[in-house]
Amino acid sequence: MKCLVLKENANMVLEERPIPVPQSGEVLVKIAACGICGSDVGRIMNGGAYHYPLIPGHEFAGTVVEVGPDADPALVGKNVAVFPLLPCMKCSECASGHYNVCKSYNYFGSRCDGAYAEYVAVPVWNLVFLPDTLSPVLAAMAEPLAVAFHALYQSGMEAGYNVGISGAGPIGMILSRLAKNAGAMNVVIWDIDPTKVAFSKEMGNVHTLNALETNVVDYVEEHFGKVDLVIEGTGSSNGLETCLSILKKHGNITLMGNPSRDVTLTRDTYWKIMRGELHVHGTWNSAYCDGVKNDWKCVIDILNKDQEWFSKLISHKVKLEDGIAPLQMMLERKTFFNKVMYVM
Ligand SMILES: [Zn+2]
Ligand SMILES: [Zn+2]
Repeated sequence: MKCLVLKENANMVLEERPIPVPQSGEVLVKIAACGICGSDVGRIMNGGAYHYPLIPGHEFAGTVVEVGPDADPALVGKNVAVFPLLPCMKCSECASGHYNVCKSYNYFGSRCDGAYAEYVAVPVWNLVFLPDTLSPVLAAMAEPLAVAFHALYQSGMEAGYNVGISGAGPIGMILSRLAKNAGAMNVVIWDIDPTKVAFSKEMGNVHTLNALETNVVDYVEEHFGKVDLVIEGTGSSNGLETCLSILKKHGNITLMGNPSRDVTLTRDTYWKIMRGELHVHGTWNSAYCDGVKNDWKCVIDILNKDQEWFSKLISHKVKLEDGIAPLQMMLERKTFFNKVMYVM
């Protein structure tokens, strides 16, 4: 099979490898598409990989083409998205169904080989079945959608809320849609990249701001007073300062952006947390359990019902043969992109 192998930092090449053989309880998935996550840019271009060589790629969906021993042969032909986390199933977090905070997990595309490839062997447990009406290419959006969905509900999203979102990348855009679907009164989203700002407006976000041109705190003050809930998606000190400054007292903030360096706060902003009794939440990955809370079941339904809007988020469909070029483009940030996806 064809696959992209990260040999060392910023060196990823197309290779021919044997098709994986599904082991006990696994199936072989023929990959339809695999999205390039923002985290892949750091992983591949900025020395962020756990080890080399590695086949990256954790945002994927496809079709079951073969089953291993102990897997139901009736699964062949089913279209699936894949929860990319492989929990240890032994720790206390796994025992309580909180697999996203497992103490010793494996992960497709970061800790083990992922889906910048034509095939991946996947445990049946990780399969999320798709309705016939949803293409596995669009279903490769399920992972970022689940991450956004999880982040939004960490802050206790409720109808009637004013919602702030920092960062208008793929997850920020998804958040804006989810917040509106959940009955947000106003959604304000900001970025410093003019192409992302323009795209967000095009996608229907009325209150989209270029944070280099408009003071977000003043704008929010003028239009909504304060917001009830804000999601910090940049992992930067500036982003966090702004988010905390627009939040009403007793408001909720979720920290979602992965920082690339230390994040610091001014004393004034620190006081805002204390004196405003603000609620600070973390979010990591997405919930995937057989019980009540399963972000993945919800997002497949959302994606299926709102296909046209979500399809527009895919700005670039690229091929494995394009190698590292799409990541180079994402690193340089000279041209507009939203979700960039390898389509097999
Ligand atoms: Zn991702
Ligand atoms: Zn565990």
